[in-house]
Amino acid sequence: MTPAFWAILILSIAIVVGIIWRHRYIFLEELWSKLPDECEVEGCERKGVRGNENIVKGIIMCDYCNSKAMKGHPIKLKRKNNGTRTE
Ligand SMILES: [Zn+2]
Repeated sequence: MTPAFWAILILSIAIVVGIIWRHRYIFLEELWSKLPDECEVEGCERKGVRGNENIVKGIIMCDYCNSKAMKGHPIKLKRKNNGTRTE
C-alpha cells in the first residue's frame, strides 16, 4: 500500500463523516418522528407527531384527538395505573 492510497482512503472517510455530520439534525428528526406522541386520550389512533401535542383543559392531545374533541366527540382519558397512585 502506498502512502497515496492511505491519503485518499482517509480523505474519503473524512468526507463521508462530514456529510453525515452536516445532516445529523435530519437524521435525529427522522428518529424523533418515529416515536409515538404523548396523547392521553383513550382510543387514540396515534396519528400525531411527538412534540406537536396540544394541552386542552390539562389533557395532552394529539392533533387528531383535538380535532375530534372540537367536533364534539366525548374525550375519555387513558387511565394509567388504574387511576390509583402506588407510592
Ligand atoms: Zn390522540
